[in-house]
Order: sequence, then C-alpha cells, then structure tokens
Amino acid sequence: AAVIVAIDGPAGTGKSSTSKAVAAKLGLGYLDTGAQYRAITWWMLSNGIDVNDATAVAEASGKPAIVSGTDPAAPAIAVDDLDAAGPIRTQEVTSAVSAVSAVPEVRSRITALQRTIAAEAPNGIVVEGRDIGITVLPDADLKVFLTASAEARAARRSGELKGKEAGDLTATREALIKRDAADSSRKTSPLAKADDAVEVDTTELTLEQVIECVVTLIEG
Ligand code: C5P
Repeated sequence: AAVIVAIDGPAGTGKSSTSKAVAAKLGLGYLDTGAQYRAITWWMLSNGIDVNDATAVAEASGKPAIVSGTDPAAPAIAVDDLDAAGPIRTQEVTSAVSAVSAVPEVRSRITALQRTIAAEAPNGIVVEGRDIGITVLPDADLKVFLTASAEARAARRSGELKGKEAGDLTATREALIKRDAADSSRKTSPLAKADDAVEVDTTELTLEQVIECVVTLIEG
C-alpha cells in the first residue's frame, strides 16, 4: 500500500534535505509544501498585491495556478506555467511568506492541493511542511517532527545561502526566529507537533544520521 509520511518542523532543521533523501531511497514521491506557500507569495508580490492586506490576499488566493512536481530527484514548482523554483528562494519572498501563509483562504486552497497530490502518489509520498501531521494528513502512516537549536538552524540556513544572499549569522538567526514565531502564532494551522509524531532533535546529528533515523522509522 502507498505509504504517507509527514515531516514537520521549523526552518533550518533539515526537513527538505531529509525528506528528499528519504523519498529517493524508498521510491516515494516528495512534496515541498513550503515551496507552494512561497509560490503563491511570489505571485502576490509579482502582481502588486499588498501581502499585509489579508483581504486582498484572500481575494486573489484562487487566481494563480500552482503545479508541484513530486520527483525527489528534481523538485519542481510552477506558477501560471512559469518556473518558480528560483524566484521563490529570494529574500523578498522569504520575508513575505509568513503573512501570506497566515491567510485562511490561502491555507484552505493549498491544503486541498496537497491532499490531492498525496492521494494520487502511486507508491506513497513524503510531505514536508509545518502543519502536515495535524491538519493536512492527520491519517499519515508516520509523522516526524524535526527540531534543532536556534544556533544550529541559523548555521545551516546561512550555509545554504552562502554566496547568494548570506547576511551575517546574527541576522539569519533573527530572521528565522521571527518567521518561526509568526508561523507558530497564526490562528489557522500553526506550526506544532502532532501528539502522535515522533520528535527528532537534529542538533547533534549529521544529515545522514537523520535520514537513517527516518528510514528506520518508516521500515520499522
Ligand atoms: O519550508 P519553508 O521555509 O520553505 O516554508 C516557507 C513558509 O511557508 C513558512 O515560513 C510558513 O510560513 C509557510 N508554510 C506553512 N505551512 C506549511 C509549509 C510552509 O505555513 N505546511
């Protein structure tokens, strides 16, 4: 039967790298739900919608066509047939995404999309995000909640950004903490650990160790 795996946690815990590698190893699909929220945010910014105007964001939320690939070897995201993989990683989108993802109309639309993609994955899928285990796929076969210290998360994120838009470590750390606080305090589907999720603290673990741990949880 198709196996559904939910991987949640704050930014910089290794969710994407872990989820992609686990999916590739086990022949499962992979869905990056953060990329979908980033894609809709990019569309709002590109179309002159004020991301801090929740009414305007809600009204426009049904307009962009968002298409996510599920191949862990080639994660893809398109908005209105435009490749969005690059633009969704800019600082501008990262700063705006928490405001857009807090709008209930945005969440209900993206959640419906995620459920369809998960239901259609032939062998099953690893879905990574913030609210997958509690809201999107409460019947997932396995739920993992990744955590790490703020220092470790900032160091990883700043390593990823190296050469691109890497600021100093303190600024990265502050931006991450601010985004987590916004994601954790919103009214609809806040970032939280499901009661039946397995919590894995990745602070002292290598990526390989985290991948092994999740593979063992799935196969066990
Ligand atoms: O995972 P990533 O950092 O790309 O997520 C970007 C943003 O998308 C998060 O900060 C959060 O606001 C939003 N998000 C969400 N629910 C998810 C995944 C991401 O609200 N399931």
